[in-house]
Amino acid sequence: MTKKYKVLLYYKYVNLENPQEVMSWQRELCESLNLKGRIIIADEGINGTLSGLENESDKYIRETMSRPEFSDMEWKISYSNAQNFPKMKIKYRPEIVTLGVKKTGKDVNIDNKAHYIEPEELLNLYENNENFLILDARNLYEANIGKFKNALTPPIDSFREFPAFAKTIEDYKDKEIVTYCTGGIRCEKASAYLRENGFKKVRQLHGGIQTYGDKTGGKHFEGEMFIFDDRLHIPVNTVDPKIISECKFCNTKVSRYIDCNLIGCPSLFICCSECEEENNGSCSKECFDKINETNASLRNNKTVVQANV
Ligand SMILES: [Zn+2]
Ligand SMILES: [Zn+2]
Repeated sequence: MTKKYKVLLYYKYVNLENPQEVMSWQRELCESLNLKGRIIIADEGINGTLSGLENESDKYIRETMSRPEFSDMEWKISYSNAQNFPKMKIKYRPEIVTLGVKKTGKDVNIDNKAHYIEPEELLNLYENNENFLILDARNLYEANIGKFKNALTPPIDSFREFPAFAKTIEDYKDKEIVTYCTGGIRCEKASAYLRENGFKKVRQLHGGIQTYGDKTGGKHFEGEMFIFDDRLHIPVNTVDPKIISECKFCNTKVSRYIDCNLIGCPSLFICCSECEEENNGSCSKECFDKINETNASLRNNKTVVQANV
């Protein structure tokens, strides 16, 4: 079966002289190619996740790389049978990702970022039972459905909580640390932050989990990778996949996140397809009842409208 859509994930830290101009150029480009997703443009660079038909996505890559400041962009590509983004959003932000340490100015000097460790090298560390700390730079809800074996997973809901977390692992300042995230963008700053705060032996996984899966087959990654589009998670490990998470209702082993079906409920939870159906996609008894009430009132309204006609 041929897959129709490409999903592109990319970032580049580079000083942009005129972010507004980059924004209008990108907006036009995306519209002309009918791409959807989101792009953040900042003085410090660009970060995007986009999806479109294969030819259009390839054209986007070529066009974007035709600009000198983006000519060495690295792309993480996955495939999908559907368009996973509802619309195209391009936003200006002061930073492409933020640790939120300082009110104004830069949280870290990005030049202090750690050296990369390539996917194959990380695989070797595991295979040779090397003594190192593998540190997840993502949020806990992401790590809950998939993470590297033995990874330390910070109990954080947002990247802004990472600096406070770092204070709790000061015992590891002399230890060999490898940080990782989805595609690498957060590690650039997390690793710089750690190094600026006395952690001496930090490296960051080049290209993140996604590149690791593509290049090594994903051995030693357990569960699936959380992603920020409608798919919510994608497989990484094709060598010896295992599931580390459980359905919140029946405890069946499953790497499957869903959004609560009740509009306005922010809950994102792990749920098997049987329980999703049984509970009408709700995260709780309260949401289940509210969904039923809403459906009942919609049915009633419909009856009224029909009666008026
Ligand atoms: Zn279940
Ligand atoms: Zn809910």
